[in-house]
Amino acid sequence: MDRKVSIAPHAIALTIAGSDPSGGAGLQADLKAFQQNGVYGMSVVTLITVQNTLGVGRVEMLSADLVCEQYDAVMSDIPPRVIKTGALGTGAIIAEVAARLKTCGCPIVVDPVMVSKHGAPLVDDAAVMAYREVMLPLSTLITPNRFEAERLLDRKIGSDLDDLLEATQQLQELGPEMVLLKAGEFDGSQLHLFYSGETIVTLTLERHRTDCTQGAGCSLAATIAARIALSSPEEDLAKRTRAAVDFGIAAVNHAIRFAPKYGNGC
Ligand code: PLP
Repeated sequence: MDRKVSIAPHAIALTIAGSDPSGGAGLQADLKAFQQNGVYGMSVVTLITVQNTLGVGRVEMLSADLVCEQYDAVMSDIPPRVIKTGALGTGAIIAEVAARLKTCGCPIVVDPVMVSKHGAPLVDDAAVMAYREVMLPLSTLITPNRFEAERLLDRKIGSDLDDLLEATQQLQELGPEMVLLKAGEFDGSQLHLFYSGETIVTLTLERHRTDCTQGAGCSLAATIAARIALSSPEEDLAKRTRAAVDFGIAAVNHAIRFAPKYGNGC
């Protein structure tokens, strides 16, 4: 029988990130978020942390060479529809990964992770400069929290809305097409500012009191990446990204509301 088997095109996402063996953050969180959204996930490891819910014991950065070999292996075989980056470790890794991302041919969501929730540095001193110089200009969307935004802008950000709006605009001037600034608590709510390249919108969510937020940033950026992978490449990228951001912050806000306490810490 002459039967044509047509394989549906797959939504595939690649994360380039560090390992959190407790499964709350890092590439483990990213892969779970991809899976939850029905997206096939791949991961390139940049660093290995030894940690559980009580804290981080050790952080070992991989060589830029080893990171790039993993990247080349998967990219030459399984092209993703979106790439997400998390903890990138060193300025050297950022420089070499960025050189490759120039020709990746898909949207890039950059979560400029700098320290773990427990305060362990996840990047070296050269990384902030490398983010500014080579990574942000390549990014479709960056998702810094307030601390990361201050490091990238090299200035303090005030608590008033005007300064948050100005900081969002200044982040976009560093090169990314779009910015999601996770501003944190504002007037008793959780505030995010999204700059699409044209206008800034403020997105306000209910704030939930819990310490169990390890990996919330990773999960948000990974969910946004997954929703971009699921959206039609023919549609306007800013529109696809805005829809992905709306979905991602609602999903992660819900997850934080019902966050279980799995370990002895949080
Ligand atoms: N990546 C790794 C490997 C981590 O261990 C952490 C936090 O511990 C993060 C990223 C950032 O996690 P969060 O989403 O809580 O900012």
